[in-house]
Amino acid sequence: MHSTRFKRSAPAALVMNHRRAWKRGDNRFEVVSRDATKRYKVVVEGGMPLCDCTAAQFGRPCLHAATVLRRLMREGQVAA
Ligand SMILES: [Zn+2]
Repeated sequence: MHSTRFKRSAPAALVMNHRRAWKRGDNRFEVVSRDATKRYKVVVEGGMPLCDCTAAQFGRPCLHAATVLRRLMREGQVAA
């Protein structure tokens, strides 16, 4: 089973936004980090989401880009 714990001090709004992608423009999204303490910018180029988190800088796939990709697929913007 998957469970996620939040710090008691985490603002309710951050918890609510957990793992959601926010559209900030035509090809721009903001994704809340797993622990809800950070927001990453994800830019979509040619149907591929590019994230600005540390993992992505090193060319690794990350949850944030995956979250955006899932949303793009759901909206039919890229082929599954
Ligand atoms: Zn990322």
